[in-house]
Amino acid sequence: MIRLGPAGNIEQHDTISTLQKLKNMGLQAKEIEFVRQVYLKNDAAKIIGKKAKELDINLSIHAPYFINLASEEKDKVIASKKRILDSCERGHFLGATHVVFHPAYFGKRSKEETYSIVKNEIMDMLETINRSGWNVKLAPETTGKHSAFGSLDEIIKIVKETKCDICIDPAHLYARNNGTINFKEMLDKLEVLKLKNLHFHFSAIKYSPKGEVSHLTLAEGGPKFEPFASELLKRKIDCTIISESPITWQDSLNMKKILEKLGYKF
Ligand SMILES: [Zn+2]
Repeated sequence: MIRLGPAGNIEQHDTISTLQKLKNMGLQAKEIEFVRQVYLKNDAAKIIGKKAKELDINLSIHAPYFINLASEEKDKVIASKKRILDSCERGHFLGATHVVFHPAYFGKRSKEETYSIVKNEIMDMLETINRSGWNVKLAPETTGKHSAFGSLDEIIKIVKETKCDICIDPAHLYARNNGTINFKEMLDKLEVLKLKNLHFHFSAIKYSPKGEVSHLTLAEGGPKFEPFASELLKRKIDCTIISESPITWQDSLNMKKILEKLGYKF
């Protein structure tokens, strides 16, 4: 099954009324964005989770953006983990599946050193998640800037070695690779992980030699959704695709149209 939906709320709507609107539009997913902070309380999370379940809308979370698990300042690492773990706790009460986060920046560290730090911190957080009984998947995301940890190979390796989950953003990979992406190769690599449900972000993107600059609407640039969609359908991949376009839910509907054109029935 393929689920589509936006990151964040629909303009002028709170989370509950956004969920109802999405249902009415025929969408099936939504990512809750803790951009600056984890703003929900557990009680509010439970109420939202109940509504989402009633409407059969899959919830996921984007942890706050101020995260660097490989920072040289210990305080920043502790604060980063707290932001991710607070998101996981809220995610548990929301009934959310994935808790997405951008893991780290290299700073002055080598790629190898950064990798082993991020890996250790992820293992430590997985232990806390298990011990707390939170039913969520920790999902480090493929990032769009060369200064950030998070190439497809880095994230896949960490998933294999820690058994965490993954969030794949093809736009970020496209930005890292100067405006090219091979969906077949990408999905071949992901299939090896044998995950039951893949979590994607999708939008078009503006990039420079340093990588990601900003997200664009599907109409404004690449990568194009149709070749990605047809590869997903060919392989019968179960997944959630969150629109991170500047026009979030409208582009979810555009993705829906493309999938339907290719013969997919929602
Ligand atoms: Zn992200």
